[in-house]
Amino acid sequence: SKLRVGLLFGGRSGEHEVSINSARAIATALSAGENASKYEILPFYIQKNGRWLAGEAPQTVLKSGVPLLESSSPSATDNNIVSNPQQQTLERWQSPSQVAEVDVWFPILHGPNGEDGTIQGLLTLMQIPFVGSSVLGSALGMDKIAMKMAFAQAGIPQVKYKAVTRAQIWSNPCIFPKLCDEIEADLGYPCFVKPANLGSSVGISKVRSRQELENALDNAAQYDRRIIVEAGVVAREVECAVLGNDQPQASVVGEITFDSDFYDYETKYTQGKADLLIPAAIPNDISSKIQDMALQAFAAVDAAGLARVDFFYLEATGEVLINEINTLPGFTATSMYPQLWAHSGIPFPELVDKLVQLAIERHNPSH
Ligand code: ADP
Ligand code: MG
Ligand code: MG
Repeated sequence: SKLRVGLLFGGRSGEHEVSINSARAIATALSAGENASKYEILPFYIQKNGRWLAGEAPQTVLKSGVPLLESSSPSATDNNIVSNPQQQTLERWQSPSQVAEVDVWFPILHGPNGEDGTIQGLLTLMQIPFVGSSVLGSALGMDKIAMKMAFAQAGIPQVKYKAVTRAQIWSNPCIFPKLCDEIEADLGYPCFVKPANLGSSVGISKVRSRQELENALDNAAQYDRRIIVEAGVVAREVECAVLGNDQPQASVVGEITFDSDFYDYETKYTQGKADLLIPAAIPNDISSKIQDMALQAFAAVDAAGLARVDFFYLEATGEVLINEINTLPGFTATSMYPQLWAHSGIPFPELVDKLVQLAIERHNPSH
């Protein structure tokens, strides 16, 4: 009989639309070729307000590619509403529903409430295998401060940074000027101010003066309690995909090019503003170094299944610095992660098949 894959998409994050597009590509791949005889897809759509929908609604969203807004959602008596994990207890999950039929979960949620370990905790409690990193790997990969601490411990080179809290920015007017003095002295300009737990460049500012720094800290504090400030580097941006559990593999290295000041939200999601170049036009020894560092980073945060690891390549000195790891990277047909694997000899349908098998393998380590 077919393995029932619970495709979990949408989600309470700014990357809701990206998630829908990732899920569409994965659903297509799971129902194509040899996968069609192996897998049955059970889609679950999490609305922006956190409500889970099963049955017809997720099929509609997958078909149209358009989010289902809260206002047009079915009423609370509709039996296709599975659960709102923010409001209901885990007991609800034990009741018979489409949830109980899932053999393996494929969460393809990006950003907070999906990539950060929260959903992974829920799926762990359900005792059903799921694709991707578990609680620790997801949480470490999401929080840029914790992630950088793990990378530092593993000896992976990265930019100089400083961790800041919202309380330091907002609560005490005496601390704030000192904090800015320290940042200026330690990191200089330009530097990057980032909320620690977001993605898609949301809330990130590149700052070049004291006034910009103060504004950027205040802005980032609106998004997160934890804020990170990093020394800015002038570098090419290269990325490497990792696939596997305990013996992961690294893909060829790809490069992202764009004309804007940095890889901000608009550049990421406006068609034609950024280009992917695979393989990156960099020396072989640099590619090898990047692949090694990607595998080290994967292990450093305890990632599993998949991750995309992003780097700065400082061409002038030949230095490579790690920027970040993304444990649930964009997975549309044109996204970097599946493209890197396609160029490494693993086409999209085979990639999703491998990911599902890796989830099962991790759940039953004796196999
Ligand atoms: P996100 O998780 O939102 O993608 P990143 O930390 O990757 O956040 O930052 C987004 C982009 O900002 C990067 O791709 C890069 O273009 C730019 N950037 C971030 N940090 C630095 C830095 N320290 N030096 C230079 N550019 C940076
Ligand atoms: Mg990121
Ligand atoms: Mg990034």
